Amino acid sequence: MTKIEKAKLLKLLYQYRSFGFKYFKEYKPANMINQKISSNLAAMSDKVSNCHLCSISNSRKNVVFGEGNENASLMFIGEAPGANEDEVGRPFVGKAGMLLVKIIENVLNLKREDVYIANVLKCRPPNNRVPTLEEVTSCKPYLLEQISIIKPKIIVALGSTSYHHLTGDYDMPISKIRGEVLEFADAKLIPTFHPSFLLRNPSAKKEVFSDMLKVKKLL
Ligand code: SF4
Repeated sequence: MTKIEKAKLLKLLYQYRSFGFKYFKEYKPANMINQKISSNLAAMSDKVSNCHLCSISNSRKNVVFGEGNENASLMFIGEAPGANEDEVGRPFVGKAGMLLVKIIENVLNLKREDVYIANVLKCRPPNNRVPTLEEVTSCKPYLLEQISIIKPKIIVALGSTSYHHLTGDYDMPISKIRGEVLEFADAKLIPTFHPSFLLRNPSAKKEVFSDMLKVKKLL
């Protein structure tokens, strides 16, 4: 089998897995569960750092896997890394990231290290364009696997792209759905505005503040 054929087959298997297919049941001895969780994310991060499933791998500098508390009750999911994130391989480290940290600290009374932060797409799309459906289809299984390992109680979808690709509810404007408490896998999903949007539209901060109060109540 050629490398291209292998990559295509792998992509297809990831797509099947994103639809819920499972190929084997992993054996987890009870006394190894915590250790297993940690090594699973670390192993995943290693695997994803060499991913070439979509063409963005040609232009990225670093894969931005995600970071934070592996046992977090709260997970934030954004759209995709930007230039700052691509440079250092960490999520939400630019201006939008600083605003997110302020929200975490000042509204939720938590620290950045208490939560887990990731994106739907693990690599920066050229010129920060919106990810294509094909790119998301290739990448989303990684996110779903992260969620299944971390098992957060609450997931906050940051912005419309994150919400749309997480749920498949592509016709719903974020302005209409934000602040709703939805079911997603075993977690509550609360969509809200992306911090980048807040930087451009500071008047929307009050809506995000109200959404975060809901998050705080449910934690
Ligand atoms: S965006 Fe996702 S699927 Fe595409 S190369 Fe990066 S990690 Fe792989």
